[in-house]
Amino acid sequence: METKDKELLRGGQFLVKETKCEDVFTPEDFSEEQKMMKEAVMEFNEREIIAHKARFEAKDFAFTEEVMRKAGELGFLGVAVPEAYGGLDMGFVSTLLVCDYISSGTGSFSTAFGAHTGIGTMPITLYGTEEQKQKYVPKLATGEWFGAYCLTEPGAGSDANSGKTTATLSEDGKSYKINGQKMWISNAGFCRLMIVFARIENDKNITGFIVEYDKDNPNGITLGEEEHKLGIRASSTRQVFFNDTVVPVENMLAGRGEGFKIAMNALNVGRIKLAGACLDSQRRILTTAVQYANERKQFNTPIADFGAIKYKLAEMAASAYAGESATYRAAKNIEDRIALRVAAGNSHQEAELKGVEEYAIECSILKVAVSEDVQNCADEGIQIFGGMGFSEETPMEAAWRDARIARIYEGTNEINRMLSVGMLVKKAMKGHVDLLGPATKVQEELMGIPSFETPDYSELFSEEKEMIAKLKKVFLMVAGAAVQKFGPDLEEHQQLLIAASDILIEIYMAESAILRAEKNAKRFGEDAQAVQIAMAKLYLYNAVSIVEKNGKESIISFAEGDEQRMLLMGLKRFVKYTNYPDIVDLRIAIAEKVKAENKYCF
Ligand SMILES: Cc1cc2nc3c(=O)[nH]c(=O)nc-3n(C[C@H](O)[C@H](O)[C@H](O)COP(=O)(O)OP(=O)(O)OC[C@H]3O[C@@H](n4cnc5c(N)ncnc54)[C@H](O)[C@@H]3O)c2cc1C
Repeated sequence: METKDKELLRGGQFLVKETKCEDVFTPEDFSEEQKMMKEAVMEFNEREIIAHKARFEAKDFAFTEEVMRKAGELGFLGVAVPEAYGGLDMGFVSTLLVCDYISSGTGSFSTAFGAHTGIGTMPITLYGTEEQKQKYVPKLATGEWFGAYCLTEPGAGSDANSGKTTATLSEDGKSYKINGQKMWISNAGFCRLMIVFARIENDKNITGFIVEYDKDNPNGITLGEEEHKLGIRASSTRQVFFNDTVVPVENMLAGRGEGFKIAMNALNVGRIKLAGACLDSQRRILTTAVQYANERKQFNTPIADFGAIKYKLAEMAASAYAGESATYRAAKNIEDRIALRVAAGNSHQEAELKGVEEYAIECSILKVAVSEDVQNCADEGIQIFGGMGFSEETPMEAAWRDARIARIYEGTNEINRMLSVGMLVKKAMKGHVDLLGPATKVQEELMGIPSFETPDYSELFSEEKEMIAKLKKVFLMVAGAAVQKFGPDLEEHQQLLIAASDILIEIYMAESAILRAEKNAKRFGEDAQAVQIAMAKLYLYNAVSIVEKNGKESIISFAEGDEQRMLLMGLKRFVKYTNYPDIVDLRIAIAEKVKAENKYCF
């Protein structure tokens, strides 16, 4: 089906528009080409990464580089790169798919892969001049060179635009000299190219540069020792020092002062890719956990038969299912938006940039949700293994340590939470997403008398979809009242923003799971999708509790008296099921399926 602009929701519009299940892309929609790519990547992951896990854990950085080179030989580093620059130009969904299925072996490789293909390469494909792209991208796409991204400094982390690294123009105007210190630089130990952000004179915003790094001719670049990290042990992470590093003027990326924009847009892409990169870890953790639980006996019973363990298996499966659903939904939206822009005459570069930027809210949502889900999953994985989970001899220990970083880099989860709501409010102010109209309607509904009719819920997911619509009302009610109360000062009320963000995240994730299960039930039959339906219902049930908690905390923090009472009554109405799902039964059904298949099987 050709995607028309009017059919394609803008970023953030999921909150105020109903999405039909036919309009979402799901992993079951992978094309033959994508399925083949998935198989190839999974096979590579088994053969080259998982089989050598011990070497990664032993901090064998040279081995990480060697496997990265093999990934380059197979084309995996160039999936997102246009053919003109030596890549496969396979589209955004395929790009996500590769990030996803290459990532479960170890966080070390996953980070090296993500830093190179994402933030190490994308700034050039998105912002480079034709000459820059011709010169550098083919080398990066094939793995001849590896890239690193140097934004963070000792004094500039979340406040990325506050870096002190300087770039000074030479007297003849032909080059810049870069001086400064960067830290936490992934791939620093084996990169040949760095994207470096530095400030020219007293510019408000930093500027991006492409800096070559040749160990035999270091040009003032020195590296710190490898950092001793909690996890991702074979991902090279070092400080990078620049001492009068000479960079030709033609290596400036975009224009002077454009660096902050480049950094932020590179991170948008990085965030959804990071979500993708957590998915297969989650699947693998669950598979490993259920295999152990089926074998391990206590009290003469496989521990998988205990309700307490079934609870965990079901929750792990439901969160993985929701993560997949939401990540591929957003990835396809981005791909379609890029295609629309190309069709409208934009260059591929501009189309890609704007396509991803459009869904920056979803990218932040996914980054937060999936990074926390994989962490929880790994934590429960350890618990299922009991004492053995705490041992280096089982895979859970490393999985848990490796998962932890995802909540920190690509913008911490606190920053991404606040960004997601902040960007949505900005979009509303610009008129790109109409929040005011729907928020006013919710206010009117609160004043009105609620309907006491019992709707017909016989159709699959009819009550769940109504619940999603009500959760959206909670967001509009809480955020709308908060904006009215605080206006532009809202950004000072971080606890409120974070609560609103948690509501937003749950809505997107739960809705995505339901739309996927609905779409698949329609084409494959409800019986065939019974467990997927159960997972979507379970995820939603949990989401409702999170929305209720955050809604309540927000309302009592900023509203008083009659207003508080009215908002709390509204909240109660909007989180109420007419027919509560039997959550215990749902969990049992999900766990039994996972147990029987002895793996994550959806
Ligand atoms: C293993 C690893 C690899 C990395 N790879 C790279 C890389 O390749 N390139 C690169 O440039 N960087 C990289 N980073 C850096 C990473 O992006 C930063 O660590 C991250 O952005 C957070 O910055 P920070 O560590 O200075 O923490 P800080 O910014 O000091 O944050 C500390 C805490 O304060 C919170 N906080 C900060 N500001 C606010 C605020 N305004 N409101 C509320 N809370 C706030 C944060 O959420 C966090 O919880 C890497 C880091 C690690 C650990």
